[in-house]
Amino acid sequence: MRKILLFFALLGSIFAIGQNGYYASPVKIPLLLSGSFAELRSNHFHSGIDIKTQGVTGIPIYVVADGFISRISVSSIGFGNALYIDHANGTTTVYGHLESFRGDIAKYVKENQYRQKSFKVDLKVLPKEFPLKKGDGIAKSGNSGSSGGPHLHFEIRDTKSEEPLNPLKYDFDIKDGIPPKVFSLMMIPLSNDSYVIDDNRKRRFPIVFYDGKYHIKNNPTVSVYGEIGFAIETNDYFDNSLNKCGIYSLQLTIDDELYFSHQLDRFSFDESRYINSLIDYETFINLKRRFQKTWIEPGNKLSTYNYLKENGTFKARGNKIHQVKIQLKDTYGNTSMLEFKVVSKPAKITQTQKTFDKEFRYERENKFETKDFQLNIPQGALYDNLDFEYKTLPHALGYFSEIHVIHKNTVPLHKSANIKIQTKSLPQNLESKALIVNIDDKTGKFWAAGGNFEKGWINSSIRTFGNYAVRVDTIPPNIKPLSIQTNNKLTESNQIRFKISDDLAGIEKIKGFLDGKWALFEYDAKNNLITHKFDKERFDFNKNHQLRLTVSDYKNNVTTYEATFWK
Ligand SMILES: [Zn+2]
Repeated sequence: MRKILLFFALLGSIFAIGQNGYYASPVKIPLLLSGSFAELRSNHFHSGIDIKTQGVTGIPIYVVADGFISRISVSSIGFGNALYIDHANGTTTVYGHLESFRGDIAKYVKENQYRQKSFKVDLKVLPKEFPLKKGDGIAKSGNSGSSGGPHLHFEIRDTKSEEPLNPLKYDFDIKDGIPPKVFSLMMIPLSNDSYVIDDNRKRRFPIVFYDGKYHIKNNPTVSVYGEIGFAIETNDYFDNSLNKCGIYSLQLTIDDELYFSHQLDRFSFDESRYINSLIDYETFINLKRRFQKTWIEPGNKLSTYNYLKENGTFKARGNKIHQVKIQLKDTYGNTSMLEFKVVSKPAKITQTQKTFDKEFRYERENKFETKDFQLNIPQGALYDNLDFEYKTLPHALGYFSEIHVIHKNTVPLHKSANIKIQTKSLPQNLESKALIVNIDDKTGKFWAAGGNFEKGWINSSIRTFGNYAVRVDTIPPNIKPLSIQTNNKLTESNQIRFKISDDLAGIEKIKGFLDGKWALFEYDAKNNLITHKFDKERFDFNKNHQLRLTVSDYKNNVTTYEATFWK
């Protein structure tokens, strides 16, 4: 009985979701997009659409349907200031990177920030707090959190599963008559004995457009042997906008037989990182270009593939010409086609023997250790089997261990791996300041990768392969006042701002006190900026105030700033 009820509940919500005109636009300016649903981003699919706000912040934002606020989050990163609004049709709409909330909502948020003594809050809100009618003003657009410029990030989610849905499937007034563009094709030999043209390396082909289709430049018949994968570099565009956006669906047919079909209607946040297997990750790391594969690796569990023959790979055998077609669509049905020919030829290359340290299997946990290094990769972290390579580089100045070269940063990890590095010549008084860093092998630059000292070793979890070693952070964060002069005179009338920065471990805590009471400092991490806005309701004015600000990093190095000023 419960199952039947659930079925009807689901059916009901699907019908409701499909209704035309259910959602109004969240803005009253023309709907122009700078980002599309499921567009490929670093380590994730874009979970909504990015609506342009004419290059400015402060554009009024309206709720798209009747509902109530169910969640409000404020963070120095991610969506910054964000509202989540639940609707009766079983969906939640999300509005991110906001500059400010409507007065009563802002008051509610601030009360909670003072109660929790924290700028960062993630509030579950009861339906009775903020009931909303379609078209009610709720916020002003902004650039908060990890936004790269003023815009509104807008999402429609399935309330129950929290899976983001493709908003372009609903009837928003978005103009799009432009089909996806194809820039380049890649052919990738997938086994040791397969090749493209005359060797075992990935090969890129320039693409040209004529006769209504895309073709490989000069239209060659490409000779291949063995197991081959195809990948394409593509972007989609909306009318009246130059922003690169993502495609909706991709299909591979060989000799008119379907091999691969992929379509982006919805996904779950848990599977978003599979994007690193959807693209050719090595080319992305080396060239910052994204080639979307038309096959899947065995450890890729992404749910958005809807048809696969031989996992989308092509096995070239015999002396035969094959017609390959790759069809691309955007959500509005604008379609592009790439067509080319391959001919399977017998193998003619001699294999080179590969050297490696250990064979890792994608379907299980993998471990590797030496006398001063340990690596533990959990099950589900690798997309494919791996000929794992490892070496050390000599102990360099400023480091308290060897540099451990853990395979290559061009191979993606789906889950964090744990590493342990033995320290070398680390003085006892610096043990609590030691951490692991990730070193760029080309520039020598390094970034904190966390970790704590334990019995001569530092352990941490890493999300990428690469070069790792131990350093120490003894330098406290820097606090630079922007609104208080050396003689304690204020230079801004309604706020106090500081630039804060840390050299290595990163800023962990910011605590501001005004006249001995906790005071809210808003944190804008991308600009290293913290701001206290003077608040008549919480602090008396026309008197001298004591300000005390402490900023600490993840290695417990602390900087304190104190000032007395008249306000
Ligand atoms: Zn966005």
